[in-house]
Amino acid sequence: MIGIFGGTFDPVHFGHIKPVLNVKQALNLSQVRFIPNSVPPHREEPWLSAEQRLSLLQSALEEYDDMVVDTRELDRGGPSYMIDTLRSLKSDYQDESICLVIGMDAFFGIAQWRQWKQLFELCHLVVTTRPGFDPALILEQVGAENYPFLAEKLTQDIETLKQGNAGNILLLSVPLLDISSTEIRNRLLKGEDVSQLMPDEAHQKLRGFIDDNR
Ligand code: ATP
Repeated sequence: MIGIFGGTFDPVHFGHIKPVLNVKQALNLSQVRFIPNSVPPHREEPWLSAEQRLSLLQSALEEYDDMVVDTRELDRGGPSYMIDTLRSLKSDYQDESICLVIGMDAFFGIAQWRQWKQLFELCHLVVTTRPGFDPALILEQVGAENYPFLAEKLTQDIETLKQGNAGNILLLSVPLLDISSTEIRNRLLKGEDVSQLMPDEAHQKLRGFIDDNR
């Protein structure tokens, strides 16, 4: 079973890496592929260039085993729709089941993703949640009309995920790390230190990008 984790990574931070590490260990995933998006469909133009986002992500993941960068969305160009990415992954990893890992905030907006119901034919969904959240309340956030569709896929049991190739939703509670790329960008604009919020190699590189832009 492999994991995939998509995002803008503008820039990458521990709030991306640590929850995924928890998921990888809990589900015993053989690898997790981090997929930086090209043109994110649901948000404005990133702050860093695609090359910079990619380069920081590569540096950040260097010290983690079996956590790798997958450039297929950048290579494809145009809007990055997860359904296209999953179809492409499925053809590369025909014998593997795929777990799409997403944060709770991203999950709340999943009904806006292109052909989102078809995602469940291709992968399981693992939502990293904050400890203590009620599963029903999380599903309700996606919209009352979607609740029955999602509820029948919900499981709290990792073994259920391992039995089928796709189609389940697992809510996995992970320690909370209150960091976002937005916060990092805001801190940098104010000249504040962000060195504790991402791996050191990535931070050094980010400092270099900022100095080059001065
Ligand atoms: P921005 O602040 O620019 O919106 P972000 O920090 O939320 O960025 P993204 O690249 O948009 O990062 O998110 C990629 C994925 O990482 C999403 O699934 C999101 O839910 C998840 N994520 C981001 N920050 C955290 C965090 N602190 N804890 C858990 N998951 C997170």
